[in-house]
Amino acid sequence: MIYILISVIVIVPLVYLVFINYRKRRNIYLEALERSNEAVIITDPSGNIEYVNPAFSTITHYPGEDVLNKNIEAAELYRDDKEFHEEMWIKLKREGNWQGELSGKRKGGEIYPKHLSVNAVRDKKGRTLKYVWAFSDITKLKQAEHSAHYYTITNLPNRTLYNDRLKQAVRFADRHKHLVGVMVLKLNQFENINDTLGPPIGEGLLKETAQRLLKCVSKNDTAARIERDEFALILTELHDEQNAADIAQRIIDLLSEPFPIRRYNVYSTVSIGITIYPFDDTQTDFLLRNADMAMYRAKEQVDSKFEFYSSQISKKAFQRLSIEANLREAFEREEFVLLYQPQVDLKTGQVIGMEALIRRQEKGWLAPPSEFIHLAEEAGLIVPICEWTLRKACLQNAVWQKEGINRLRLSVNTSAYQFNKKKLVKTVSDVLEETGLPPSLLELELTEGIIMRNVEETIKIMNELNDMGVSLSIDDFGTGYSSLSYLKRLPVNKLKIDIAFVREITSDPDSASIAKAIIGLAHNLQLKAIAEGVENEKQLAVLREYGCDQIQGFYFSFPLSADSFKKMILKGKRLEV
Ligand code: C2E
Ligand code: MG
Ligand code: MG
Repeated sequence: MIYILISVIVIVPLVYLVFINYRKRRNIYLEALERSNEAVIITDPSGNIEYVNPAFSTITHYPGEDVLNKNIEAAELYRDDKEFHEEMWIKLKREGNWQGELSGKRKGGEIYPKHLSVNAVRDKKGRTLKYVWAFSDITKLKQAEHSAHYYTITNLPNRTLYNDRLKQAVRFADRHKHLVGVMVLKLNQFENINDTLGPPIGEGLLKETAQRLLKCVSKNDTAARIERDEFALILTELHDEQNAADIAQRIIDLLSEPFPIRRYNVYSTVSIGITIYPFDDTQTDFLLRNADMAMYRAKEQVDSKFEFYSSQISKKAFQRLSIEANLREAFEREEFVLLYQPQVDLKTGQVIGMEALIRRQEKGWLAPPSEFIHLAEEAGLIVPICEWTLRKACLQNAVWQKEGINRLRLSVNTSAYQFNKKKLVKTVSDVLEETGLPPSLLELELTEGIIMRNVEETIKIMNELNDMGVSLSIDDFGTGYSSLSYLKRLPVNKLKIDIAFVREITSDPDSASIAKAIIGLAHNLQLKAIAEGVENEKQLAVLREYGCDQIQGFYFSFPLSADSFKKMILKGKRLEV
């Protein structure tokens, strides 16, 4: 009994004391939470919000009752994507904590940057009881960081940030075996303009230059301002040096346009220096210095100019640019002509159509497409050239129809680039309308390569063209990698057996078998087969034997000028049958 009495006298006050202490401690903790400047959310293990402190409401503008009992994911507190959150939860469940920066969303929808740290409260057995989410609004910090790293006028990164980004780009390039282009650009007349027309005009020039530079680089590249009148770029998506040269030329073209600032039209030349990592140096510190040296070489010229750190690369780049400029001028001066090569029906011997083949008139001779098509592709001229061919050839055929020449079907070659641009259907329908040529008298030739680049998209375009009444054929058939299963889905009328098989049809049994197989394939699919490059009677005889429908080649006629083609038709030239 005495023991019981002692325990009551001792233990009860002790428990009471502990209890009081615990309540006191708990109150102190709670008060600390309530007074904290940092927002605190407590959730259960599945993220249901059980508690928020007043700082939470101050930062997010949500009163506590708006979010209590809601899931933290559903409470509209974030802007970041789902994937980001999934990753956060995975780490949280595995390691019991997460911290980082993310975008918060206030009640009115305003987005703000926040720093969040989440910690799991676990029991002795390691089971998660609660999560404590503590975050603060770091808008001010971000603004301060931004002004430490960005120029206010241009809103471009400064040299410090540029150097950081360059290091990052080089590390990334090492890992992925990429090139990095470093470009330094000096606005040569900036000081002069600033001194004579005043700082507001100088600032305007810098701002507009920054805008124009941003138009010339890709999303992952960096454009920075590293001196008063100097900018620098980091190009992270270069295929080769020429790519950098093309970008430099684009910048020069864009910056040579006048800058309309207030009531002035300001002009400035630009000198550009380029260095390529890892060709010119492998140390980031030297890259900017090399580009700077190249820029000073460029500055020796009066006009805008770019120079590579390696003068050999400069020379090569200029050669190509001048060839491209030459091609562009040739196009503008309309120095291209079309020849027409007849296509003949083997049963009737009659000319049934012609293929338009482009030539460039150059110093008294006609250069074949092999000399300029590739360059035109690189110079971005291929689409305008192909459109010119289409328009010119359709107009010519329309004129011939009006002149009473038999209904001839015109074949026009296409380029993969026309299918990239996705406006081919519109161009073709515009050209047919402008020229008045019936769609049934136009055939477009596609190679297997064009089709296989993007099968579904190309089939869609082909169907649209076919619906318009335009015929389609596959050029150089047998040389590409087309899948036969696609062939039956393609709305084509004709397979053109490639020249290589026809050339060897009488000497190489394999070529003969392939030509025969293509003719068989065409007929099985209810298509016509035409042989290209028929040069002699022997080849013709084999093709006849195999049941080929049509031929095109020097044996019947070379490609002819429009005048000679017309004369040939009027004379009624035909193939002996
Ligand atoms: P292609 O469409 O396969 O054109 C047939 C080529 O074979 C033409 O070469 C033609 O002159 C040549 N040829 C015709 N008959 C014979 C023959 O009996 N023997 C030999 N050895 N060759 C013959 P060309 O005109 O040099 O054109 C080459 C390629 O350039 C064309 O091949 C076509 O892919 C492309 N091309 C021509 N004109 C244009 C055009 O306006 N636009 C586009 N995108 N490509 C074109
Ligand atoms: Mg062709
Ligand atoms: Mg061909």
